[in-house]
Amino acid sequence: MKVLVTGGAGYIGSITAAELVQAGHAVVVFDNLYQGHRAAVHPDAAFIEGDLRDTDAVKRLFQEHKGIDGIMHFASFTLVGESMEQPLMYLRDNVIAGSNLLEQAAAHNVGRFILSSTANLFDDPQTMPIEPDDRIVPGSPYGESKFFLERLLHWFERIYGMRYACLRYFNAAGDTANRGEDHDPETHLIPIVLQVALGQRDKVIIFGDDYPTNDGTCVRDYVHVVDLAQAHMLALENIQDIGSRKYNLGNGNGFSVLEVINAARKVTGHAIPLEVGPRRPGDPAVLIASSTNIREELGWEPRYPDLEQIVSSAWEWHSAHPHGYAK
Ligand code: UDP
Repeated sequence: MKVLVTGGAGYIGSITAAELVQAGHAVVVFDNLYQGHRAAVHPDAAFIEGDLRDTDAVKRLFQEHKGIDGIMHFASFTLVGESMEQPLMYLRDNVIAGSNLLEQAAAHNVGRFILSSTANLFDDPQTMPIEPDDRIVPGSPYGESKFFLERLLHWFERIYGMRYACLRYFNAAGDTANRGEDHDPETHLIPIVLQVALGQRDKVIIFGDDYPTNDGTCVRDYVHVVDLAQAHMLALENIQDIGSRKYNLGNGNGFSVLEVINAARKVTGHAIPLEVGPRRPGDPAVLIASSTNIREELGWEPRYPDLEQIVSSAWEWHSAHPHGYAK
């Protein structure tokens, strides 16, 4: 298939684009390089630098790359905390970017659309692990922007027959040998912990240890980025047959912040000093995904469900690239 990957120079997008290339698909990457890195784009993928908020750029993209069969839409502002400070970056920009993309996708009869969605749709879950049909209560403008895109897809299927999958990632983590997580500023737990092991930070600050969990720190469902990439490919290949779907993607196991730090101590051999700080606004105590429906319907089976494996794959990339893509 010919697949357009927006945000294909970013962390999850670049790794998925590389998996697509390796599986024999023709890949077009569109990215504004705001958080993405040119060096992360697989050399066999076509690369276009551009911004989805620019309607003319999106039109040109589809004129120059005819015959796109499917789209994976990773490009987005992605931080819950930032969205609480700058809501319009999310409620306006993420929504405009997605709308421009969908407008051209429908005009060019693209039949398959895979959306990067989020666990932040579930701020008040009724069950744990969280089922994909649990009630949606966006936890932030970020979550709301993804919910709006999910709703747009609902209508684009009704009106234009576009098949879609909404993939709600829980905590994407881990790296591959050639591509890894490199954000500026870095806010995610595992890369921050590894920066301590690399001597780039003195300590990790734990955002609160008074949550109602076993050790008082927040529990998250860490899922390897390569397993996420596989879920995207399975969804792309199957939605025409099975219909549009919403999947929560995680391993179904929760690990606390302290457990992550302990895994990193073991993997790196570094003491990784820590300090307990205040809670981070918007952090729920526990987020664990139920991925039963994608396992049953598409046979998705995470290959790297083990926390130590996930952390050690990240350590391999970060220790080989201590300054990320900048080298
Ligand atoms: N966290 C932390 N210290 C940090 C970064 C993150 O204690 O420096 C915690 C955070 O409160 C959350 C978990 O680690 O409970 C995972 O956070 P991350 O930002 O990686 O992902 P999120 O859960 O926000 O998607």
